[in-house]
Amino acid sequence: MWLKSNSRKNNLYLNFNSIFAMKLSSKLLKKLKEFINMRHSCINFLLTFNLILAAILGTYQTSFSQHISAYTLSKIVIDAGHGGKDPGAVGKISKEKDLTLAIAKKVGALIEKNLKDVKVIYTRTDDTFIPLNERSNIANKEGADLFISIHCNAAANKRVSGAETYVMGLHRSEENLNVAMRENAVISYEDGYNETYEGYDPNSAESFIIFSMLQNAFLKQSLNFAAIVQNDFKERAKRRDRGVRQAGFLVLWKTSMPSVLIEAGYISNSKEEQFLNSEYGQDIIASSIYRAIKSYKENVDELNKTVLELQQAQKSNENTQKSSTANSIEFKVQVSSSQNLLPDIEEKYKEFGNVSVVNFNGTYKYLVGGTPNYQEAVKYCNTIKSKVPDAFIVAIENGNIIRLSEALQKINKSE
Ligand SMILES: [Zn+2]
Repeated sequence: MWLKSNSRKNNLYLNFNSIFAMKLSSKLLKKLKEFINMRHSCINFLLTFNLILAAILGTYQTSFSQHISAYTLSKIVIDAGHGGKDPGAVGKISKEKDLTLAIAKKVGALIEKNLKDVKVIYTRTDDTFIPLNERSNIANKEGADLFISIHCNAAANKRVSGAETYVMGLHRSEENLNVAMRENAVISYEDGYNETYEGYDPNSAESFIIFSMLQNAFLKQSLNFAAIVQNDFKERAKRRDRGVRQAGFLVLWKTSMPSVLIEAGYISNSKEEQFLNSEYGQDIIASSIYRAIKSYKENVDELNKTVLELQQAQKSNENTQKSSTANSIEFKVQVSSSQNLLPDIEEKYKEFGNVSVVNFNGTYKYLVGGTPNYQEAVKYCNTIKSKVPDAFIVAIENGNIIRLSEALQKINKSE
């Protein structure tokens, strides 16, 4: 059974027969499970199912195989929220659109400087208005591996402060709903938004709930990354950790990769607004996001390395199996045959070496010699022919005579 999780490049094939046969170390198996977990919870279920099935059948010879695509982190979209005619949330001294752009640029610069194998794609690098759907389009067209939308929050309660990271999903609180509805409301700046967003009405909570149930296929990875971001905000930037949350953000809706929306702080809290406007504040927030990307990339690379190791181990295991099949083939020379077993046959042919008898389809075949090397068998047969002109070579596999052409084919394949 083949399971295709998505259509990404660098497909890896894992044959579970071989994995079982390889006697995986528990560390490798754990890593593999983590990797599969990252791919999709559905695959995780199938892995468990396979293991259970193998146990039920009492054999490791189940014919389940899985097709897992490698996920690498080589392109990241950094999306500075709002821009142009859409200022986003407005504070006492600043606008959200300017803060998000400043932080986004700093994050991008850190990636470009330190992660040379990662390409940064910005949705905007100046004060331009970009429709929400265009932002996810950019990421999808580029085939990005991670989408990070940067925003700043606002609340009626001016005392609220801290950072939170959202992934697409159904909100669990009124508060999360309000944040997403506020961020989504910017589509009213776009012409024909009703059509673009398939009837989504920014003013209707009901339409919002239906839309929020459309979950991103990369929820698990998005949650993983969001958790790392929040941890770095807390540990590195010393921000108040408001946690990983879920809500229906239009900008994350159609992204076909792990994606998060970061609310880096509250512009409505005057102390936090000052922090967000300071060079230090922007640097430490950008550096926390960068650190999270770096950690996430290290996890992804490590798991890919494990899968590659497994793939190589599988290959060498297959080769060992192949060559042991070929090794079990032996060439002998048939010197005689009879319907009834002849008692004195060994004595008669002992001058040619080791004599053996094989019953093939009811006929006794008397064979001499035995070598895995066909050329040697040919030479040996020629020497015998001077005394036994009818002598010819036969191939034996696991004690049975097989066709010579079949034996030679098997040997050629294994070489
Ligand atoms: Zn925003």
